[in-house]
Amino acid sequence: MAKQQLQVGENCPDCGTPAIAGKDGGGYCKSCYIKWAKANKPQQQARKTNQPFVTPGEIKKQETDLATGKVRHYFALEAYKLAKPLDVTTAIDINKWVNYVMTGRLSNPPVDTASAFNPEDINLD
Ligand SMILES: [Zn+2]
Repeated sequence: MAKQQLQVGENCPDCGTPAIAGKDGGGYCKSCYIKWAKANKPQQQARKTNQPFVTPGEIKKQETDLATGKVRHYFALEAYKLAKPLDVTTAIDINKWVNYVMTGRLSNPPVDTASAFNPEDINLD
């Protein structure tokens, strides 16, 4: 509750401070209102840190994506040097190599692991 309506001069049931008159004429406890106002400023806190909130899982995924992209870069470069066309076949081949480098495995890793990389999961946009 933002402002508990009290009679002016009535002691606040939460902290005992006498209520003062608000703009609407009703009484309210200033110290409880300040406490409430400070606790309800999520937007200002977000601006202070100036960073989006990300979970450790999201950070881990971003790091994995970044590392995967760096590895993919080298194989894409080699495919380019070999004049391979940039199509689904080449992309799948590259991703198979990237998957091998990232996981040490030849086949698709199980999809239920957090670090699973699917060679078929290609983005040609
Ligand atoms: Zn109070």
